[in-house]
Amino acid sequence: MASIFTKIIKGEIPSYKIAEDENFYAFLDINPNAAGHTLCIPKKEVDRLLDLDEETYMGLMAFSRKIGLAIEAAIPCDRVGITVIGLEVPHVHVHLIPLNEMRDATFQHKVPHSKEDFMEIAEKIKEKIK
Ligand code: 5GP
Repeated sequence: MASIFTKIIKGEIPSYKIAEDENFYAFLDINPNAAGHTLCIPKKEVDRLLDLDEETYMGLMAFSRKIGLAIEAAIPCDRVGITVIGLEVPHVHVHLIPLNEMRDATFQHKVPHSKEDFMEIAEKIKEKIK
């Protein structure tokens, strides 16, 4: 069965899209640790990061770097943290999380967002993509 993220890529489930190219897709995490928390995923559906072929792995990192730089430019924060966990959704995803303090990286503290918040944040990040 297709993963929830494959359904997002196909547009079968809505997302606040940040960017997309032939091989990768970036969108806001629906339960963010901090404003601007973004997920970058390969369109190829693979569960574990280290099972990606090298080309896709390197491409995902380059794509995540580009989106991470846009987040740093758009969202006031000390830096963007990069985390890969994958215990919830079995489709590789890189978490890009604006960090100001350690709790932003813990996945224990969440920041509720309205639809308007998500839309505004997505637009701000998109404007900064180079
Ligand atoms: P992990 O698998 O790395 O533990 O976490 C999965 C992440 O995906 C979580 O941060 C969760 O909020 C996010 N997530 C799960 N389902 C959806 C969804 O349907 N849409 C979006 N935008 N994010 C999701």
